[in-house]
Amino acid sequence: MTLSSRTSPRPPRPTLDLVVVSSEWLSPYLVRVRLGGPGFALFGDRPETDKYVKLKFTTPPPESLPVTRTYTVRRVDAQSQTLDIDFVVHGSEGLAAPWAAVAEPGAVLSLLGPGGGYLPNPDADWYLFAGDLSAVPAIAAALETLPEDAVGVALIEVDAEDAVLDLAAPPGLEVRWIVDSTHDEETLADAVRAVSWRDGHVEVFAHGERESMKAVRRVFFDERGLERSHVSLSGYWARGRTEDRFQAEKREPIGQIIPAQ
Ligand SMILES: Cc1cc2nc3c(=O)[nH]c(=O)nc-3n(C[C@H](O)[C@H](O)[C@H](O)COP(=O)(O)OP(=O)(O)OC[C@H]3O[C@@H](n4cnc5c(N)ncnc54)[C@H](O)[C@@H]3O)c2cc1C
Repeated sequence: MTLSSRTSPRPPRPTLDLVVVSSEWLSPYLVRVRLGGPGFALFGDRPETDKYVKLKFTTPPPESLPVTRTYTVRRVDAQSQTLDIDFVVHGSEGLAAPWAAVAEPGAVLSLLGPGGGYLPNPDADWYLFAGDLSAVPAIAAALETLPEDAVGVALIEVDAEDAVLDLAAPPGLEVRWIVDSTHDEETLADAVRAVSWRDGHVEVFAHGERESMKAVRRVFFDERGLERSHVSLSGYWARGRTEDRFQAEKREPIGQIIPAQ
């Protein structure tokens, strides 16, 4: 579509100012921040289980530049007018994670969104989820919407035993935690290779560290020959990169998980 053929320009997305209601550590590495307040009325909920928002931060002085950080909306509670975001706390670097680690009730967080792309297809024969802790909010939300007779496996790579969580899932959907602190980009791909492949149409949701996603992409497309329409795959972050650099690199070959055809 050209600009001139557009009948009405897309309205600018409003910024929502939400207020921290509470926070809760789900593990030493994951903190859930519950947000609400009058700004919640502007939140246009969506059905996708991987729906995400862009959180607004400012880099430290002297630059003091506005930047955004992308996070999954883990759960929306229309009744209490709150939404939850689960932050991986990955050390002292960064803006969003350090903010979340010390967020106190009453603090204001501005955000844009939500956007979203994935909702489990109830017609799939089986499901395969793969990711790291950053994808746990999206994977957990998807597992909760699967039918009770859904089958498959969720593979989640974490650094330490105490990062493992108890996720609700249908009985036929195995949640398998891979504890490995080496950050070897093939770890998750090897776990995918080890899955006993079932008959029928598999639906894949794989998101996490960029190089790890490139490795699982090779398994899905080069080794298993899956159709792209059955695979939701993207990088959520890249080791050693701030989100600003990670997003900018999407325009370069290193940032492309699925090379352009
Ligand atoms: C659609 C989408 C949904 C996402 N959902 C979530 C979510 O629900 N929860 C969540 O925690 N993250 C999520 N992420 C990832 C999150 O946006 C990035 O981790 C982001 O870089 C964190 O910002 P920051 O300010 O804490 O760190 P940055 O300033 O961006 O980075 C600082 C340093 O920390 C490193 N780093 C960043 N993230 C991690 C990590 N997870 N583990 C180890 N080191 C890291 C970077 O490589 C860099 O060296 C999502 C990303 C996308 C694209």
